[in-house]
Amino acid sequence: MTSAALPAPSPTPTVDTAPFWEALTRDTFLLLRCTACATHIWYPRKFCPACHSTEADWVTASGRGRIYSFTVVHRSALPGWAGSTPYVIAYVELDEGPRVLTNVVNGDPEALAIGDPVRVVYSSADEGSALFRFEPAN
Ligand SMILES: [Zn+2]
Repeated sequence: MTSAALPAPSPTPTVDTAPFWEALTRDTFLLLRCTACATHIWYPRKFCPACHSTEADWVTASGRGRIYSFTVVHRSALPGWAGSTPYVIAYVELDEGPRVLTNVVNGDPEALAIGDPVRVVYSSADEGSALFRFEPAN
C-alpha cells in the first residue's frame, strides 16, 4: 500500500537555515560542513557539534542514505494528516553521516527495513517553498 500525498506546510526559515530551504526549491540538498574538522552538520547551524567551531560552509550533499530507524503511522491525530495514513516517519542516516528525521514516501511502508537505501525527493510546499523527503532507492 502506498501512502497518499502528505501535507506540505511551508517551512519557517531562519538566518541560519534560509540557504538550506532556498536550495530545496532548486532540488538541491545542502549540508553545512565544518571548515575546521570536516564534520557534516545537521540540523543547519553555524556551530559544529564535534569541535565547537563556528566556521562552516554549505556543500551539496549526495541526497543518499539508509534507513536508521522508522515507524509506520496507521492512525494520526495531527490536523491534515489523518487522510494520509499509512505513512512512514524515519531517521535516515545520510551518506555524509548525519541522521535526519523525515518521511519515507513512494513505496510500500510494510516492505521497508532498517538499512534500506533511500534517496532524497523534493516536494513543493506553500508559498513557493519546498520540502525534502526520502524514497526507496533499491
Ligand atoms: Zn568541527
